[in-house]
Amino acid sequence: MSIKANTVVSLTYELHTTNEEGQQVFVEKADEQNALVFLYGTGMMLPKFEEHLLDLNVGDEYSFELSAVDGYGEIDPGAYADLPKDMFKDVDLPNVGDVIPLQDNQGNHFRAGVTAIHEEIVSVNLNHPMAGKNLIFAGKIIAVREATEDELSHGHAHGADGHADH
Ligand SMILES: [Zn+2]
Repeated sequence: MSIKANTVVSLTYELHTTNEEGQQVFVEKADEQNALVFLYGTGMMLPKFEEHLLDLNVGDEYSFELSAVDGYGEIDPGAYADLPKDMFKDVDLPNVGDVIPLQDNQGNHFRAGVTAIHEEIVSVNLNHPMAGKNLIFAGKIIAVREATEDELSHGHAHGADGHADH
């Protein structure tokens, strides 16, 4: 079976990006024991990531590069914010480099990276940590199967064998 909409794909991957010196920098990986399992074609993955995997079969190896635009987007220079330190009076003050959960007026949850701590404010970067970075993926297709009815109605994969319950 080859990868197409409504199949559940298990794959390994290694993700690298390129630093300012042009060298590849390791970001993260999933090996066979800890394969990435997902329902293909539901918009859970980056669209261009899925596009590169279409029609691949079990055992196929793949490698491709996505530009930042096709990945997590360019860095938005407006996506920085200064938070009053009072916001943290009931919790520990974060450190520079910490990623903290935030909520906006509409109740949307998101994560922000702390870039600086000043006397009265905590400065945060609201960009995705991989914004502005190219994404170099390589890996192997471990399994492809039809999604179960439960998986299709839930819109997500239930593990490699389809039996996980959530
Ligand atoms: Zn489910």
